[in-house]
Amino acid sequence: MPHSIISNICEGVAICQEACPVDCINLSNGINNKGKNFYFIEFTKCIDCGVCLAVCPVKGAVIPDERPDLQNTSQ
Ligand code: SF4
Ligand code: SF4
Repeated sequence: MPHSIISNICEGVAICQEACPVDCINLSNGINNKGKNFYFIEFTKCIDCGVCLAVCPVKGAVIPDERPDLQNTSQ
């Protein structure tokens, strides 16, 4: 199952983007509730490897689940 980045928890550090083996993590155009630029995962490209979840330093920002209701994909 694709992973999701919870838009309002992400702090825009981008460690996940650099680590993703299939380059499916993108910067959104939006600002979240923390006032940060946030990233999102392209569900159709994600291969469910778990690397983003392992490297993200922000607790709860990445979850191993497809949650379009929590991940804003505005570009
Ligand atoms: S999900 Fe984590 S590593 Fe990726 S941009 Fe957000 S805070 Fe940074
Ligand atoms: S689970 Fe793997 S493929 Fe999917 S977004 Fe995270 S690092 Fe990329």
